[in-house]
Amino acid sequence: MSDWHSRAAAVKWDIRPFIGGAHISSAAEGRFATVHPFDESPLADAAVGAGDDVDRAVAVARARFEDGCWSGLPSAKRAAILIELADRVAARREELALLDCLEMGKPISAALWDAQCFAPAVLRSAAGFADKLFGESVPLSDDGLWINSYEPRGVVGAITPWNFPLVNAAYKIAPALAAGNTIVLKPSEIAPSSTLLLARIALEAGVPEGVINVVPGIGATVGAALAAHPDIDLLSFTGSTGTGRRIMALAGGSNGKPLLLELGGKSPHLVFPDADNLDVVADAVAQGILWNAGQVCSAHTRLIVHEDAADNLVAKIVGRVEGHAPGDPLHPATTFGPLASGKQRDRVKALLDRALADGAEGRLVGAIRSEGGAHAAPSVLDRVSPGMEIAREEVFGPVLAVQRFSTDDEALILANQSAYGLAATIWTRDMGRAKRLARRIRAGSVTVRTSGAEGPPSGSQLSHEPQRGSGFGAELGVKGLQSYSTLKSVHFTGS
Ligand code: NAD
Repeated sequence: MSDWHSRAAAVKWDIRPFIGGAHISSAAEGRFATVHPFDESPLADAAVGAGDDVDRAVAVARARFEDGCWSGLPSAKRAAILIELADRVAARREELALLDCLEMGKPISAALWDAQCFAPAVLRSAAGFADKLFGESVPLSDDGLWINSYEPRGVVGAITPWNFPLVNAAYKIAPALAAGNTIVLKPSEIAPSSTLLLARIALEAGVPEGVINVVPGIGATVGAALAAHPDIDLLSFTGSTGTGRRIMALAGGSNGKPLLLELGGKSPHLVFPDADNLDVVADAVAQGILWNAGQVCSAHTRLIVHEDAADNLVAKIVGRVEGHAPGDPLHPATTFGPLASGKQRDRVKALLDRALADGAEGRLVGAIRSEGGAHAAPSVLDRVSPGMEIAREEVFGPVLAVQRFSTDDEALILANQSAYGLAATIWTRDMGRAKRLARRIRAGSVTVRTSGAEGPPSGSQLSHEPQRGSGFGAELGVKGLQSYSTLKSVHFTGS
């Protein structure tokens, strides 16, 4: 038994609501088991959660917002506490990583990176903007002054998915708290434990009790209750486009709360023949479907490639991804793990089977188990046509759909033939083409790569907004803090 296996056996699970700085019992009667997706062994027993849990958490978050214990702190003090939290998350990376590894099957090496680098970077970045949330002023006359300022919205509700459990929680907590709000957060029922531990660590870092409240449970109970709650001032959701639409209806039917929606994607690589190093392109495309087993919102799962480069590039990509079978996530050498659940595995298999039946050419068809673990090996499907489901539907698994083009206009049409609009990457050395396409591609985030050197590491400073079915609202940088604030103007007149 490896060190990580013995640590896994010793985990003490506690998936109860964390409200007002303490775990309490859920009011719900229904229960379910969380499961390790590599072998489908049960991990812990959890309540389905209830609207009463949400009411309790919102009442505490409201009281703590109104008493000013957090919003009343100088912004520099809030920043210092968030940086302390980032340091403590990095220091406790092994505990946090083990929870994500067990609950959603993320390889332990990747989960350690999330806890040591990714989540702390998000917290530190938001902390750095906390004292830079400036308004504007208009001196109207000798005795008139008009200013505006960003104020916290109040109680933020947040709902997160399972693909980066800890990082998704940090994406919500960091800007919400930096801007002075309190929060009630519902993590995914598949992987709630790192969010609960993060909330406990936040107390130790100096976040007052009741400022971060976590209500675990399923979407139909806890998630729907948060979306419909009349005393939530902003709901920030990350998850699938279908759930996002249900949340819009619930929010609109309750208090009309504003929303931030970070939803699904089907992002493309556009590869032109002047991209002079196809090995670098192949590395990036392969990495895109292997990272987190393709369960990344911005995973570039469409390859739109010029005819002249297609055969060569597809062969290189197949060479890089074939031979990857899901490994034991607790093994430190594993880089490619299982999918997060049997449900997700079955969905990926159904999409793959239908794509092949629709006529996609399977250049690599990865084995997918039907039981005994959420195992799905990578697949590469060539000659996918725009009408096929696999060209349009988000798979959220290691499946690449290849489409070929001959002209720049065709490439653009293919790229925009999607209901989503999250990200895109253009590979060319022609900067005129890159500028034209970057402007016309309907995606919130576009990367231009000439090939050659690796791109810079992605940061948390500069925000973007998803487009179309991928959602709306900015989460990162100073714009992220603005999203979690309300803009008030005050007009001073008289001498
Ligand atoms: P999901 O939509 O099934 O669930 C997300 C969350 O919503 C979970 O906590 C779930 O319990 C909750 N939920 C489910 N039904 C609900 C309801 N009726 N009311 C309220 N809450 C409800 O998504 P998932 O399967 O957990 O995650 C995968 C999806 O998340 C993919 O579509 C992916 O693209 C998306 N995602 C997007 C981003 C982004 O930044 N754009 C990041 C990560 C994941």
